[in-house]
Amino acid sequence: MKVTMIGTGYVGLVSGACFADFGIEVTCCDVDETKIATLSAGGVPFYEPGLAEKIVQNVAAGRLDFTTDVGAAIRGADVVFIAVGTPARDDGSTDLTYIDSVADEIGRHLNGYKVIATKSTVPPRTGDRIRRRIRAQAGDDAEFDVASNPEFLREGSAVEDFMRPNRIVIGVDSKRAAEMMQALYRPLYLIETPIVVTSMPTAEMIKYASNAFLAVKITFINEVANMCERMGADVHVVARSMGLDGRISSKFLHAGPGFGGSCFPKDVSALVATAEEVDYDFMLGRAALAANARQHELMVDKIRTAVGDLDGVSVGLLGLAFKPNTDDTRASPAIAIAEGLLAGGARIQAFDPAAMDNARGVLGDRVVYCDNEYAACNGVDVAVIATEWNQFRNLDLVRLRAGMRAPVVVDLRNVYEPARMGELEFQYTSVGR
Ligand code: NAD
Repeated sequence: MKVTMIGTGYVGLVSGACFADFGIEVTCCDVDETKIATLSAGGVPFYEPGLAEKIVQNVAAGRLDFTTDVGAAIRGADVVFIAVGTPARDDGSTDLTYIDSVADEIGRHLNGYKVIATKSTVPPRTGDRIRRRIRAQAGDDAEFDVASNPEFLREGSAVEDFMRPNRIVIGVDSKRAAEMMQALYRPLYLIETPIVVTSMPTAEMIKYASNAFLAVKITFINEVANMCERMGADVHVVARSMGLDGRISSKFLHAGPGFGGSCFPKDVSALVATAEEVDYDFMLGRAALAANARQHELMVDKIRTAVGDLDGVSVGLLGLAFKPNTDDTRASPAIAIAEGLLAGGARIQAFDPAAMDNARGVLGDRVVYCDNEYAACNGVDVAVIATEWNQFRNLDLVRLRAGMRAPVVVDLRNVYEPARMGELEFQYTSVGR
């Protein structure tokens, strides 16, 4: 069976490389010529642990190649995956422009039975829309099935997540498509991965519901943290103790600056907007979005309180990516906080181990980019930990303090112990403790 992956971003490239690792012949295609040129020259266009090795091995084995010729890639495949972006429009609804254009392209190049599987996160019922568009191009006699195969990988551990998923979800309405999709994931049967085969709208909803739930869970503990601060309680102990309850679980119960990244904010907004289309008010989703936006603002307030007034203050900002182990700054809380600090008149010296280039694309020259964490905090009035990269968990705090103008640390990821920071004579603030 041959697979084509349309869209060679985080999801398409990781999925393509991992399917190749399962022994399947995979072509990854993209309209971004620079991306494909980088890949064809042996490079990887973004940072993701373990991905470069998977690509090199599978290209060498002749199972993985890259092209900008989307039409040829469609014609050569048995299963065509759609893994293009589905960004949010200004009103929060999903912009399906890329999905539509790929569906039209597939319709124009359909040359025999294929399964068209959507890996992109799309609102329930998008499968029907894709089917209609393909049919409009390919004609009534064209033989194909559409499937929904939402992706649950997380940036930063994407390869591991794809190779050892909690579950595979396949939405189909044909037996033939179900069998072909299941065959692709056969290597995962050996590790007893649960495979959920269901209808397309159900599969599409599973992805949105999962992301919305996690976003609400993060928001919930952030709200608890904000109350803990005002009531003299410690959210760290509250969260740990809540997590010991098997019904709750300890995952996603870490108080911090709010959720971000390319998925949670847009997927919650999309579910709110999709609910409106069917005359339903997804109140909890709306509340999570509002509370999350407020959380970013509260973090700026926290920094302001730590230094008195932001105007003219120099801030060492540690972390720009939305989470560790990725270079992705899309909807990063660190960027939102940087914007708030700049608006208040602060000057920023920043460092991130992987996301400096992407951050530069957003913040431009309004921020000074430094070579490492100590340079970023040199001469500053306050150090702010915005992303919990491992190297920020193990800072040489004596060295850090020696370089700073004032020993003030605002730890938005709760990576340090308040008592220890006190012993080291830092003025230390964290979240909910
Ligand atoms: P991305 O922006 O990194 O990649 C999308 C790619 O699609 C880009 O390289 C773009 O050039 C390409 N593209 C756009 N139009 C095209 C066309 N007509 N033909 C060929 N290529 C085209 O996006 P991503 O982060 O990989 O996300 C893709 C989808 O997967 C989104 O729906 C997202 O919500 C979902 N998703 C993302 C993650 C994640 O962690 N990033 C996880 C699960 C699901």
